[in-house]
Amino acid sequence: MDREGAGSSGDLDAPASPHQESAFPTSALERLQLALDAGAIVGTWVWNILDNQVTADERFSRSFGLPADKCLAGIPIEEAFASIHPDDRERVSADIEEAMSRGGAYRCEYRVRQHDGNYRWIEANGRAELDDEGRAVRFPGVLMDIESRRSAEAERDRMSALLRTFTAAVPGVVYAKDLAGRLIVANDGVTQLVGKPPELYLGKTDLEFLEDKAQARQIMETDRHIMQGGQAVQIEERVDMPDGTATYWLSVKAPLCDEAGEVMGLIGSSIDVTARRNAEAELLELNRTLEARVEEAVAEREAAQAALRQSQKMEAVGQLTGGIAHDFNNLLAGITGSLDLIKLRLKQGRIADVERYLTVAHGAANRAASLTHRLLAFSRRQTLMPVHTNVNTLISDMEELISRTVGPAIQLKVELRATSSTCLVDPAQVENALLNLCINARDALKGGGSIAIKTYNEELVQGAELDPELEPGTYFTICVADDGLGMSSETLTRVFEPFFTTKPVGAGTGLGLSMIYGFAKQSGGQVRIESEEGRGTRVFLQLPSLAASVEAAPRAESLPESPMALPGETVLVVDDEPSVRMFVSEALGNCGYIVIEAADSLAGLQLLRSDTRIDLLVTDIGLPGGIDGRQMADAGRCTRSGLPVLFMTGYAQPHVLDNAQLEPNTAVLTKPFTLEALTLNVNALLKRS
Ligand code: ADP
Ligand code: MG
Repeated sequence: MDREGAGSSGDLDAPASPHQESAFPTSALERLQLALDAGAIVGTWVWNILDNQVTADERFSRSFGLPADKCLAGIPIEEAFASIHPDDRERVSADIEEAMSRGGAYRCEYRVRQHDGNYRWIEANGRAELDDEGRAVRFPGVLMDIESRRSAEAERDRMSALLRTFTAAVPGVVYAKDLAGRLIVANDGVTQLVGKPPELYLGKTDLEFLEDKAQARQIMETDRHIMQGGQAVQIEERVDMPDGTATYWLSVKAPLCDEAGEVMGLIGSSIDVTARRNAEAELLELNRTLEARVEEAVAEREAAQAALRQSQKMEAVGQLTGGIAHDFNNLLAGITGSLDLIKLRLKQGRIADVERYLTVAHGAANRAASLTHRLLAFSRRQTLMPVHTNVNTLISDMEELISRTVGPAIQLKVELRATSSTCLVDPAQVENALLNLCINARDALKGGGSIAIKTYNEELVQGAELDPELEPGTYFTICVADDGLGMSSETLTRVFEPFFTTKPVGAGTGLGLSMIYGFAKQSGGQVRIESEEGRGTRVFLQLPSLAASVEAAPRAESLPESPMALPGETVLVVDDEPSVRMFVSEALGNCGYIVIEAADSLAGLQLLRSDTRIDLLVTDIGLPGGIDGRQMADAGRCTRSGLPVLFMTGYAQPHVLDNAQLEPNTAVLTKPFTLEALTLNVNALLKRS
């Protein structure tokens, strides 16, 4: 080592090495001293620039992986440079150049290769000395071992890079704040939530970077509480996003403690639960409105069904009116034609023919009456006279009539197995229905085969076999079975329609089954059909059974006698139809009664309230004058209690005509009626039989 050079720089107080020079500013000196104390000096050198000789101590030679003797003797700087890590060489030489150009302190960190071939970090501290002309002439310095510091720094860098990656990758929102509430760590979620880049919020408090100051204050207040309380807290809170949409966040905030357990800030994480909240709210809403929506759906379905029923009804009404008009026109043609002929013959004085035309007109009128009767039966508005009827007896009484009707080619079997056979029904209608069913069976048999009539008691429960309008219970069943043609499913669905017939014009009216249907319904029962094309038909007429067997009321069959009026006996006839008034007055007048007429309920009532003698009231039910015939009769009976009343009606309302509701001394005649029916009823009311 060049002692001269070293001497000119002043001695360094360094007992470990006699070569060290005082070539450093104070702070460098201090560090050097510290390094010496710590044994961190790993070499000293002096570079004599003019003759390019670096003289260095033995530790230097070890640090640079060079032979010790050569270093002690002096080596050119290039040789020392060869040990510097190739990546660092350029930087080191640039630093040296720079120090040499200005003179003074030099400090540089770099890696040098040792004997074992490994590189080691060192810090070179030196000083460039200049001559009077500003040329660098001498460059002494020391080496310090910074390997452990550098690896600690590398580890720290690695850790902070890892932390950055980790923080960025954490889903949701994760952040840490210091004691003052400044954000010190935050992940990407925070950036999105805040709506600002990290440089605008890192190191700042919520109050500084949030627009909504009230919200910021609230957050900071909560944070302070958590830091003071030392406890983790979970909160669900509403946060308005930068774009204005409301979101909900579930946050966990906890105090952030250092290793000693001192609170140094706050750590928080939040996840967006808006979707969950919305789903919950929707579910709640769904539950709340479920009932209403079910009701709505049911109402809609009911409305649709009602509309369907209405349209079906309208179709049936259309068929019905069309059918009636057609049939009635035919009958009216017969009646008016006969009347015209009668008028003509009377004019011509050919009285002999009149009788014949009268018969034709009468026949047509009778058929018209029976037509309206069937229609009323179908519309369930017919005047039923239900009485306790033993239906088994009724059927066996009809057996002969039926077999005569169906003819000898058809075998008739009757099996009356029902043990309880009493029903509250109109016996005439049962006869009518049975006859109709047997005629249908006969038509289906096409001249040969058998018809079986069976009765039995059947327990019907709710289900396909029972009309939902009916009560479950014991039903008296009449089954009429034939082994004839049967029906197609298309026919089967339509048989109860009025005027539906598959028979040729003139052969069928299409009113048989519809009438039976109406009668069964009105009697509290039902009618069912089982049929298949080519396999015969079974029709079941099911009527409610009466538990107790009651004897059938004897039916009045005696022919009416003409009532013999007692002297002065008076009948009040009230009807708005003059022809009916005339017919009734004439008929009763013939029998010797005094007849008073009224055209409406008002006039009728006046007469009833007067002291005129009235022994019998014969009245229509539907009347002009404000009140109907029934009300007028009731009012009349207030002053004339027990007055016999005979109602005549063309269109019977069931409530008006329910026989069970009729008071004593009351009877009902359905229009049109015969002279015989009129006198029969008058007889009964005036107790003349
Ligand atoms: P109509 O006998 O005047 O045709 P109904 O109402 O009695 O009127 O019967 C309607 C239709 O039902 C008949 O035209 C026929 O097609 C069918 N029908 C009724 N009873 C039977 C049966 N026993 N066998 C086959 N078809 C029947
Ligand atoms: Mg028929």
